[in-house]
Amino acid sequence: MTRFNAFSLLRNALNGHRGWTEQWPEAQPKPAYDVIIVGAGGHGLGAAYYLATQHGITNVAVIDKGWLGGGNTGRNTTIIRSNYLYDESARMFDHSVDLWQGLSQELNYNVMYSNRGCLMLAHTVHDVQSFKRHVHANRLNGVDNRWLTPQECKAYCPPINISPDARYPVMGGALQQRAGTARHDAVAWGYARGAAARGVDIIQNCAVTAIRRGPDGAVIGVDTEKGFIGAKKIAVSASGHNTQVMATAGVRLPLESVPLQALVSEPVKPVFPCVVMSNAVHAYCSQSDKGELVIGSGTDQYVSYSQRGGLPLIEHTIAAISEVFPIFNRMRMLRKWGGITDNTPDRSPIVGKTPVQNLYVNCGWGTGGFKATPGAAHTLAWTVARDEPHPINAPFTLDRFRTGRLIDEAAAAAVAH
Ligand SMILES: Cc1cc2nc3c(=O)[nH]c(=O)nc-3n(C[C@H](O)[C@H](O)[C@H](O)COP(=O)(O)OP(=O)(O)OC[C@H]3O[C@@H](n4cnc5c(N)ncnc54)[C@H](O)[C@@H]3O)c2cc1C
Repeated sequence: MTRFNAFSLLRNALNGHRGWTEQWPEAQPKPAYDVIIVGAGGHGLGAAYYLATQHGITNVAVIDKGWLGGGNTGRNTTIIRSNYLYDESARMFDHSVDLWQGLSQELNYNVMYSNRGCLMLAHTVHDVQSFKRHVHANRLNGVDNRWLTPQECKAYCPPINISPDARYPVMGGALQQRAGTARHDAVAWGYARGAAARGVDIIQNCAVTAIRRGPDGAVIGVDTEKGFIGAKKIAVSASGHNTQVMATAGVRLPLESVPLQALVSEPVKPVFPCVVMSNAVHAYCSQSDKGELVIGSGTDQYVSYSQRGGLPLIEHTIAAISEVFPIFNRMRMLRKWGGITDNTPDRSPIVGKTPVQNLYVNCGWGTGGFKATPGAAHTLAWTVARDEPHPINAPFTLDRFRTGRLIDEAAAAAVAH
């Protein structure tokens, strides 16, 4: 694997960039592996990377029905934060934020992590109370978060309209300074490159059609479009399609697959210095390094496997953005797209073992799993390698929907992200 550094860049610049080697080979399936991971998104590729680097397990295949990173990893608005209310979530997401800090160096691949800060605007008395509660809870958990007055919000992000005449006036905001954004494709590519360099096979355009179990009930492999592939262990990380894949092993998951949309504007000069989220009007915004405003909102109101989503939600989102940032009223939008998110009733993920021996699942990240990519991948790899949960993912069991020990970030946030 060519290492990226100043010398390799210079050498290749001088020879017309003919010296770069492929980032990962086009692998064909072997008859069997120690571990198969279904889904080559950031979570699946990351888990393969950590299996290889931290647990010495390299006889691994990551199988995807499309191209790697073509699912939600390549479709999301890349917001990273860890200011969740409950202790379990704070630990999981802050573990990720810790890993994000050094990820480019770890992978020798620039994932463009930018901790530009995430400001969550409060527009109602309920918002103020709820966000202040988050600030206090976060601080108790060692997660940075602080309260800003409307004037401080405006000073931090000048495009915000803090006029008291607004339909939903800004009453303050909670700022997590360590939060930010990263380049989504680069995360998938960096993990893929790192995993492949250590012997992991990345098999693209090969849908897994069924998980096969042996007479004792344990997994024995997967049926795919390229035939049967044996495996001692299988981890499923297929986001919007988790229920379908897991159903083939006889495991029912408490998930609903719902489209989530995003859109970008025409590019403009740097004008928007951070991430701003507004739950009450329900829209959020940041500016990409290319200059486009990256805009997102809530999920569509219906379950679907379509990656398109409905126009009414986009119209609502644009109206919300215009309300909070009137300077963007006349900007043109370039394109919109959707992804299929897998949502649990409490909007917290399920990462761990399943009732089927040697079958593991990483699902339920819904609208907010990009930020968790390194942490989810790291704890999933641990769980698969040791057949026991890492302390951080231990509370995120499938069983909590039977025992009632929920981690109800849905109720805490009143909006998932
Ligand atoms: C529009 C949008 C905006 C979002 N914004 C944010 C945000 O700002 N911040 C945030 O934290 N999160 C955000 N999310 C959520 C985030 O994108 C996801 O939670 C996260 O990327 C999930 O990563 P993953 O690796 O689990 O899934 P994916 O990247 O979706 O990977 C799953 C892979 O499984 C593959 N697959 C499915 N079925 C099969 C099969 N049968 N066989 C083989 N392969 C299969 C798919 O092709 C896919 O590549 C957003 C999502 C969307 C759609």
